[in-house]
Amino acid sequence: MAYQHILFAADFADEALRVGERAKDIAHKYGARLSLIHVIEDVNISLGGGYELLPVLPDLPDEALLGEARKTLDEMAHRLGTEDAEQWVVSAPSTKEGILDAARAHGVDLIVVGSHGRHGLALLLGSTANAVLHGAPCDVLAVRI
Ligand code: AMP
Repeated sequence: MAYQHILFAADFADEALRVGERAKDIAHKYGARLSLIHVIEDVNISLGGGYELLPVLPDLPDEALLGEARKTLDEMAHRLGTEDAEQWVVSAPSTKEGILDAARAHGVDLIVVGSHGRHGLALLLGSTANAVLHGAPCDVLAVRI
């Protein structure tokens, strides 16, 4: 089966470029469309018991934050040489949901994420790669970082 639409989930960690290179290579091999996504998790903290007087935090990331993320994602696309790829910055309750919703909405057939291959406590707590894998409507490639 030839992949047609590959989604690279980009955090802005040092290793992200290496994961992106892999997504780019695969897209090139299959002649597939490539899209880049960065998720900003919604800030939604509810404080109880005595903290009611603290200012209420907004649920949605503000425009400045979204703008910064768009800029950083665009810089990453340039460094990868994938300026033609679509770039999506979305806000969602969780990174997993942001990635999976976009994958479903845009008919993605391969999601590429980085994986630290953690074990022990970190594994029990879960990782983005694990979370994405468990709800994915398509194949997921976890690139070891
Ligand atoms: P983590 O489990 O948080 O170490 O992240 C593992 C991988 O999940 C990263 O290499 C990215 O591919 C993806 N990822 C993590 N955070 C984000 C984010 N905010 N937006 C998009 N992808 C992300």
